[in-house]
Amino acid sequence: MAERPVAQGPSSPGRPLWLLAELTYRCPLQCSYCSNPLDFAAQHNELSTDEWIDAMRQARAMGAVQLGFSGGEPLVRQDLETLVAEARKLGFYTNLITSALGLNETRIGALREAGLDHIQISLQAGDADVAAAVAGSPKAHAKKLAMARAVKAAGYPMVLNVVLHRHNIDDIDAIIALCDDLGADAVELANCQLYGWAHLNRTGLLPSREQLEAAEATTQRWREALSARGRDMRLLFVVPDYYAERPKACMGGWGAIFMTVAPDGTVLPCHSARILPMTFPSVREQSLETIWYESFAFNRFRGDAWMPAPCRDCDERHQDFGGCRCQAYLLTGDPTATDPVCALSPDHSLIEAAREEAAADQRSAHELTPRNTHESKVFCRA
Ligand code: SF4
Ligand code: SF4
Repeated sequence: MAERPVAQGPSSPGRPLWLLAELTYRCPLQCSYCSNPLDFAAQHNELSTDEWIDAMRQARAMGAVQLGFSGGEPLVRQDLETLVAEARKLGFYTNLITSALGLNETRIGALREAGLDHIQISLQAGDADVAAAVAGSPKAHAKKLAMARAVKAAGYPMVLNVVLHRHNIDDIDAIIALCDDLGADAVELANCQLYGWAHLNRTGLLPSREQLEAAEATTQRWREALSARGRDMRLLFVVPDYYAERPKACMGGWGAIFMTVAPDGTVLPCHSARILPMTFPSVREQSLETIWYESFAFNRFRGDAWMPAPCRDCDERHQDFGGCRCQAYLLTGDPTATDPVCALSPDHSLIEAAREEAAADQRSAHELTPRNTHESKVFCRA
């Protein structure tokens, strides 16, 4: 039986602007910070090419303009070029978010011909040994560098994304130098968001405050040096939530602008949300329009009527929307709680405790739990 929506927040939500198409959870790498669900190995029933095209058509008809192809590794799907071409015909601005594993000159050419607008490649580190330990592959780093050069040679604007954590953050000078050498147009130095596999490994990933401050200072020095050289390479440094005083405005608000379709067709307000103790609808069973406007799941945390104290009386509630529901649930067991990252949250001591726990965790990058099918099966049985 369909769940009934509850009236929450704005009576008429705006249109989705962003569609994230998680084409698959399959991936050749094993990043210990991957945000994919712990039980991804239980997911086999990927949407077909036609089902994806239908979902894209629906999203575009609703007004979505940005389309990200993500995963897992989206290049695992051999129909990626077909989907890109269809997205282009529909009028989306398209972005491929990839590890570059599965990329080659032929596919770069085919994606260009299909009309792909933009490519974002992830790097694990500046140093090949650290990259191998984090990604679980000794060869991936060299492949990524070669493909980053090929992407630039093909004339694409390129963003390099580096997930920062305690095992690579001290290497930030070399990381930025490498990105500069590769010709990146922008670099996201994104401190690890602690969801999925990253939450499982969080005490072994969280950097110290000293590491963080040193990395920010190095990034600032690079900004000044790049500017002095006239080199246009934007550096975006994303501070980890666990060292912030206020939470991020997660996804620009729940069900406000962003819609994710997971590999099996589950529709989510953000890619992490399927961990929450609630049922999310599927594009195989309902239209995206019905899901966006009418489903219980998309209305549950819209607006501010659902908020507990202290958020409900806080002047900042329309800036951060009470923070992240996934983070609130992972830390407190209550998805309606104020995000404990907020210094005003009654649960903020959980963040302080997690920082202390992390300081006592001496594991090397090799000792973290890898994101792979074998480990995932443990959570499929749980
Ligand atoms: S974070 Fe790593 S393991 Fe996860 S999908 Fe991306 S490349 Fe694959
Ligand atoms: S109390 Fe709630 S609304 Fe206020 S700053 Fe903290 S998380 Fe944001």
